[in-house]
Amino acid sequence: MAVPKKKVSKSRRNNRRSHDRVMISNLAECANCGELLRPHHVCSSCGYYDGREVVDIVEVT
Ligand SMILES: [Zn+2]
Repeated sequence: MAVPKKKVSKSRRNNRRSHDRVMISNLAECANCGELLRPHHVCSSCGYYDGREVVDIVEVT
């Protein structure tokens, strides 16, 4: 197994992780409820897609 030769400094480690966050760049607004959603995906809050309800959203509390 490959073993790191040198300890990675906090600065270098944190610099590497600065790009780790997930970036959702393009968000569309749901035509039915106005919720932000990924394009070409069913709305997760109302279950609508392309102007009609395609998924029944069951409220879980
Ligand atoms: Zn919606």
